[in-house]
This record gives sequence, structure tokens and C-alpha cells, in this order.
Amino acid sequence: MTSYAYFQKKFIPLSEAKIGVMTHCLHYGTALFEGIRGNWNDEKKQTYIFRMKEHYQRLQDGCRVLKIDLPYTIDELCQITIELTRKSGFQEDIYIRPLAYKSTEALGVRLHNLESDFLAFVIPWGPYLDVDMAKCGVSSWHRPPDNVIPPQIKAAGLYINNALAKTEAIDNGYHEAIMLSPDGCVSEGTGENIFLVIGGKLVTPANYNNILMGITRNTVIELAKNDLGIETVERSVSRGELYIAEECFLTGTAAHITPIAEIDHRQIANGKIGEITKKIQKIYFDVIRGKNAKYMDWCTPVYK
Ligand code: PMP
Repeated sequence: MTSYAYFQKKFIPLSEAKIGVMTHCLHYGTALFEGIRGNWNDEKKQTYIFRMKEHYQRLQDGCRVLKIDLPYTIDELCQITIELTRKSGFQEDIYIRPLAYKSTEALGVRLHNLESDFLAFVIPWGPYLDVDMAKCGVSSWHRPPDNVIPPQIKAAGLYINNALAKTEAIDNGYHEAIMLSPDGCVSEGTGENIFLVIGGKLVTPANYNNILMGITRNTVIELAKNDLGIETVERSVSRGELYIAEECFLTGTAAHITPIAEIDHRQIANGKIGEITKKIQKIYFDVIRGKNAKYMDWCTPVYK
């Protein structure tokens, strides 16, 4: 098994995919990325790519903002991704990293008069936070307002904000940061959205709270509604509500559904995974591995 890259219109080993030192995006963060998972189903000896179209739709939306001309349609991007994953041949959970980027080797801060290109690669990758329950700290770094950098696109340069918060959290002994919006409401983790359980309902920050509209977030909202009859309220959440929530968890393609044990050294409920979180997690893990007939539309098989 080798990690492959799709680079300059060819499938090549990842180790051979190199860009020049003057490439625009390297200097100014003028790129957009996605994170897509392929989940291994050992019984079926199959990898299922989860909600691939939705990821490429979000990439395409970001390209409009950064004036990147994607040289492919969403269907073509999906086909490239399937072929790339098949070629790499992994029989374990993998992570696919597509990147649409300003590829011209030129200096100068701008979005115009630059060529764009698309690349993607596949690597094996287990759980991102790699803990059963996360300890989180509210960050001193806030999410940027939309008139600084639109936070709903996965722009490479934007992630300096997330990296500052993440490293501050690790330095302070936490697993993950929770960032607030510019007006002090709860926004999201550095690579995850956040959910609370309040009064038996799910509560999560809304699109006006400077979040990335997560695909896992949407998956959880759908599964909770359809399979558990639990409604999700999308609204502003205050910092104080975090401490008194009945349950709390993070969602993301890389982090899956990670329950939160404590925030700012305050235990959430009894510090153990909550009942609703546990139920959602169980359904979710079956769904992403192609083990739930109802949601097979979200799963693209890789191997023939
Ligand atoms: N917020 C941020 C800042 C992220 O980087 C991610 C990861 N893409 C998420 C939330 C979760 O989004 P998704 O569920 O689509 O992976």
C-alpha cells in the first residue's frame, strides 16, 4: 500500500508530488482544503468515502470566495478521488486531503491574475483527537468576523487562527480549544463543531456564530432527528452554558464524535459520556462504515 497523490493531472506516489518554493499559496495562504474520510468496513472488505459530494460542494463554494477556477466539476472531483483511493489500496481508515490552490509561482498579495490548480492525496489516519473524552479550554483566540476572513470556508490562511488556539490549548494541558465568536458567543473547536445537550435537546451554534458549517454537524442533526426523534436548536450559546450543559461533544470529519469530559477545569455533568451522545455516536459509526442501509447514499464504495 502506498499513498498516492493526484497532482498536475496525474496519479503519482505522494512522495513524488512537489511544488516550487515560489508557489503563491505557500506565501499567502491562498488555498482551500477539504478533509474527507474513507472508513474501512472489515466485514465487507470495503472503504466507504463519506459524504464526498458535500465536501466538494463546500470546496467549490470556497473557490468562489477566493476566485479559484476549479478545473473540474464536482462529479469529476469525486471520480478522481475514488480512483486515487483505490490506487492507494489501504485497508484501514483513511483521510483524503484535497487542495485547490493558487499555483502560479509569483509574489504579490492578491487573488487576481493567478493560475489555480487542484491536488489531492490519501493517507492512513486514525482518530484525530485520539482520546475517549476530551478536555477542552475556552481559547483567548476568537474566530474572525466575516469581514476579516469568512470563517465558513476552509481557506488555508484562515487556519493560523485555529493553529494559535490549538497550540494554546495543548500548552495549557487541554486536548482541544473552544473558540468564541467576536461577540463572545461559543463558536467551535479548531477542527470541530460543538454540540450541547440542554433539556434533552441538542443545541449547537448557528451559522451566524462564525462557524464552519460542518458536514459531521449536519450528519448529527439528521441522525438525531430521523433516528432518535431529537430536535437540534441552532442558536447563540453563551460560555456559561458550556459549564452547565447535560452533555457536550465535538463533531468533525477527522475527530468524528468526541465527547467532552471537562471545559476550563469544570466537569461536564459526571464527566462520563452522556446517554444521548452515546446513542448518536453508535448510529454515526455504523452509518460512516456503510453498515446502515438507510444512509448508503452518503457512502461511496471504493473497491470493485
Ligand atoms: N470547524 C472547523 C474549523 C473545521 O476545520 C472542521 C473540519 N473540517 C469542522 C468544524 C468540522 O467540519 P466537518 O464536519 O465538515 O469535517
